Amino acid sequence: MSRWTRSASSPVVGVVGAGIAGLVAAFRLAQRGATVRVLEASDRAGGAIQSIHEDGWRVELGPNTVPERGFLLGELITELGLRDAQVEPDESASTRYVVRGGRLVALPRSPGDLVSSEFLSAGAKLRLLAEPFVSRFEEDEVDESLANFIARRFGREVLDYGIDPFVAGTYAGDARQLSARHALGRLVDLERDFGSILAGALRSTRTEPRRPLVNFEEGVETIVRALVDRLDGSITFGARATGASHDGDDWTLSYEEGGAHETLQCDGLVVALPAYLAAELDVVVAGQGAPTDALASISHPPITMLALGFERADVRHPLDGFGVLIPSCEEGFHTLGAAFPSTIFEGRAPEGHALVMSFVGGARAPELCALPIEEQIALALEDLDRLFGLSNGPVFTRWRQWARSIPQYEVGYGRVMDGVDALERSMPHSALAGNYRQGIAVSDTVASGHAAAQRVADSLHLQE
Ligand SMILES: Cc1cc2nc3c(=O)[nH]c(=O)nc-3n(C[C@H](O)[C@H](O)[C@H](O)COP(=O)(O)OP(=O)(O)OC[C@H]3O[C@@H](n4cnc5c(N)ncnc54)[C@H](O)[C@@H]3O)c2cc1C
Repeated sequence: MSRWTRSASSPVVGVVGAGIAGLVAAFRLAQRGATVRVLEASDRAGGAIQSIHEDGWRVELGPNTVPERGFLLGELITELGLRDAQVEPDESASTRYVVRGGRLVALPRSPGDLVSSEFLSAGAKLRLLAEPFVSRFEEDEVDESLANFIARRFGREVLDYGIDPFVAGTYAGDARQLSARHALGRLVDLERDFGSILAGALRSTRTEPRRPLVNFEEGVETIVRALVDRLDGSITFGARATGASHDGDDWTLSYEEGGAHETLQCDGLVVALPAYLAAELDVVVAGQGAPTDALASISHPPITMLALGFERADVRHPLDGFGVLIPSCEEGFHTLGAAFPSTIFEGRAPEGHALVMSFVGGARAPELCALPIEEQIALALEDLDRLFGLSNGPVFTRWRQWARSIPQYEVGYGRVMDGVDALERSMPHSALAGNYRQGIAVSDTVASGHAAAQRVADSLHLQE
């Protein structure tokens, strides 16, 4: 039996999942006059976004770096009245380190910096500068791996010390598996449009504004809490959707709540789950099972987010930057790198302390995530000691292990997206939203929730 009765006046839209994609979709649908009912399996909203505050430490167990890409995230922040709660990153956030030869080397911040930078060898710098003369890839149909694309355009060292650590830190991914077109499509577009990434980037940086980092006094989860407030009473926590069936004009959403099987009748549907969980939903349209295998084929490597708090005096390095990434070719390291949240934002650690966020596992070393957490912590501390010089262990330790973290936009992702689009088209008055569609970042996922709301609202003829 459904707990909700349908109002005759406004169409009901069921939203499955209260991560940022589902919340944004529900918020936008409510603005267009729909009655929204959000089902959330866990006891909290936000999904991957989780900010905790304990004993003076403020820790992001999910996204730490949220660039305000596109305009939809910024628009949402303004609309939710959160501009005053935002915190500005420290100037040093523009310094980013990679490890080269076992020590930290700052990435060049401008083309001028590159000349004196130790980031690349002299030969690799010359090879990089020759990029505009590398001929354009003519075979449009070929989905090239990111590793191939970067090595072809810039040479091997830019791949090893630039892109390899970058994709480990963003995608938890491996550049040899990821598709250049789907994971970093902007670079492929620059090659196509300008014949050169360097030439194209120089032209577009003149016109494109800087993308500021978004965070709030109380962490990234602030935006989630504001959306939950606006959706007052529309979210049911502890409600795990199991299937959705369309017959006649209606969807029947099946879910489990407190051990009982429940149903919800609705006119429209937004499925805002990670791809591998959306694939598990039993979707039936006019008596036929809808194929979800494209969703099931997307891989999600594990990652452990490890928050380690130190007495400031116990860390020799000034931690004067955003963080450090460790290329896979650097020998003897275990982790993907570490961010320095207490350097970038105020209020992340108690006075006289420093917070370091280590990343363990990813597509590069998924097996490490299967180790007992004490062993993962020991490996991270070994890396941090080698890089920063620690005179004592941490005084604060928290972690979250993500068994399946971020969708990998691998070579062949175009076919996967075709399958996802076909599934969506087969589901009347419905949309699929999440980080496997328009990009993995929070801002992309906001855009995906927004697009899903628009699709369903238009299909139900809700007014603009
Ligand atoms: C460890 C980590 C670090 C990241 N770092 C960054 C970063 O620094 N910057 C950045 O921009 N992005 C980052 N991302 C990516 C970004 O956080 C995610 O892409 C985005 O938050 C995903 O949002 P979502 O709504 O699509 O999915 P999710 O956040 O996964 O939300 C899905 C929701 O659905 C619920 N659910 C699951 N099954 C069911 C069911 N059957 N019925 C009902 N509800 C269900 C879940 O409990 C969850 O609340 C990171 C992601 C992770 C995991």
